[in-house]
Amino acid sequence: MASGRPSNRKVLLLPGDGIGPEIMGEVLRIVDFFETRNLARFEVSEDLVGGAAFDKFGVPLTQETLERALESDAVLFGSVGGPKWEALPFALRPERGLLRLRKELDLFANLRPAVVFEALADASSLKHDLVAGLDLLIVRELTGGVYFGEPRGIETLADGSRRGINTEVYSDSEIERVVRVGFELARRRSGRLTEVDKANVMESGGLWREVAERVHADYPEVALSFMYADNCAMQLVRAPKQFDVIVTSNLFGDILSDCAAMLTGSLGMLPSASLGAPDRSGRRKALYEPVHGSAPDIAGKGLANPLAAILSFAMMLRYSFDMDEEAGLVERAVKGALEKGARTADIGAPQRASLATRAMGEAVLSELRKAA
Ligand code: NAD
Repeated sequence: MASGRPSNRKVLLLPGDGIGPEIMGEVLRIVDFFETRNLARFEVSEDLVGGAAFDKFGVPLTQETLERALESDAVLFGSVGGPKWEALPFALRPERGLLRLRKELDLFANLRPAVVFEALADASSLKHDLVAGLDLLIVRELTGGVYFGEPRGIETLADGSRRGINTEVYSDSEIERVVRVGFELARRRSGRLTEVDKANVMESGGLWREVAERVHADYPEVALSFMYADNCAMQLVRAPKQFDVIVTSNLFGDILSDCAAMLTGSLGMLPSASLGAPDRSGRRKALYEPVHGSAPDIAGKGLANPLAAILSFAMMLRYSFDMDEEAGLVERAVKGALEKGARTADIGAPQRASLATRAMGEAVLSELRKAA
């Protein structure tokens, strides 16, 4: 998605709260591995976000940190939040730090892969054969649609009854930029894109289809299909391997990406990326983060699964730095570690001892050392 390989890869690391610093520690060991083997150089800087930033500066994201994020090629984000900050006013809550970053970086395309590693296929709620080898990618529009559309609110009518209102609004340019991301990704993968909407009952869905068809002319090598969102929900649990890339609105993407996530069986395994518009050189602002939160129940105990964060790092290599080969190296190292039986408690099996965060990171590094 980036054009050319930047010689200087500026990465801002924001570990955040709870298990964030623990899992990011393992990502940093992989960064070190790449550097000591001369596979790649990164200019990594680290800063505070969320509750950690609030404790030091009184806000969940300082202006300086935001500026550093805007100047970076990519942001690697851990997780934010926890009971300590729950009583704070809404504007000061740790989660506002992440929301502000997404808004200021204008990250409109949220990429949520659902990959089932063969060694973990039995952890899925679906039958082994339905999910083994699953590798799909949902692209969710992240900054528009019914979560932001006006008018919104609750109004009281003349007869005293109340009415709740939210509005699904999409301009053709908002649709086009995210649909293009879908086509670009499909072109790099198996060349199939499914646009998902409710065009049978929603005019905005009709516009999504029209725009997708128009943009398709620029990507003739990609096979474009359409599906209604309710059918897509059914198909995801009936035969998920039929999909390659799905592109859809904020609301449908929110629901369908969580549905697809559960096909993989574990929160500790799920990476994500959020991308902005390309600049003149073709580079996009981008933030990479595990899907899970700060897991206060296990924070500080060294029990967290670092694989979602490590797989988010692999997504950064692929989508911000065009380092497909190196991303594949990391992904295969995760696969190899799992095949050798490495398991943290969240993905553990009965009769199998589980590894601590650090030991799981070490298992991945040991696979990397053999492969690189
Ligand atoms: P959570 O994802 O933090 O935890 C849910 C469950 O999954 C917990 O039992 C936790 O121990 C487990 N879990 C999560 N990640 C794991 C990992 N890597 N390894 C092993 N187990 C893992 O969700 P929650 O409990 O609903 O929220 C906790 C806090 O995180 C809240 O403050 C919430 O607002 C915040 N949160 C932040 C983000 C983010 O930073 N993007 C996302 C979701 C929730």
